[in-house]
Amino acid sequence: MTVSLYRDEGVVLRTQKLGEADRIITVLTKRTGKVRGVAKGVRRTTSRFGARLEPFTHVDLQLYTGRSLDVITQAETIRPYGEALVTDYPRYTAGTAMLETADRLIVAEKEPALRQFLLLVGGLRTLVEGEHDPRLILDAFFLRSLAVAGYAPALEACARCSAPSVRAFAIVAGGVVCGACRPAGAAVPAPETITLMIALLRGDWATADASESRHRSECSGLVAAYLQWHLEHGIRSLRHVERV
Ligand SMILES: [Zn+2]
Repeated sequence: MTVSLYRDEGVVLRTQKLGEADRIITVLTKRTGKVRGVAKGVRRTTSRFGARLEPFTHVDLQLYTGRSLDVITQAETIRPYGEALVTDYPRYTAGTAMLETADRLIVAEKEPALRQFLLLVGGLRTLVEGEHDPRLILDAFFLRSLAVAGYAPALEACARCSAPSVRAFAIVAGGVVCGACRPAGAAVPAPETITLMIALLRGDWATADASESRHRSECSGLVAAYLQWHLEHGIRSLRHVERV
């Protein structure tokens, strides 16, 4: 069997125990996409990897391709985001939600996902810098991740008929809807909440930072529900594919 060695940098999304001393490390890398690699002996105190393969760490890795999982042979820390986040609970929980969401949105392994990688690194860096409300940073990350995955919500015109005057937000319709297209039970958010969602999707922090708390709360509720719907929908379609 030919062993091929490769290098890449990535953010550790998650770790799982394997056997007595090893761990499977899930990393979102810059060039290779999502990779699951075995770190041998990492749970021993004498491990040469130390704490470098913990969630949140931006690492430079060397791996060789194995039969099922690749094996991590070297890891150097580029930036330990976890150290900066662990002392700040709201930022830590926002960061954890980012890691989980990136992991769930990227189903396929070893398919390049550069835009999602850049969003994750940018999101973690913004969290650590501490200049914006972590709830806003997380919602911006969710909205942009959904856009990268092809699920950007319509926010400026009706998702169904493109009418410019919108009244409600309907997850199943794919975003804002006009009075005529509005399905029963669609939420009717404040116009400022939609303005905030547009600002977060565009990276317009001046508008986002000036928003009121009640609009931030409403925005978080809508974005979380929209994300959840797409994640469940994605998982359902995957199960369907596997059955076929
Ligand atoms: Zn319409």
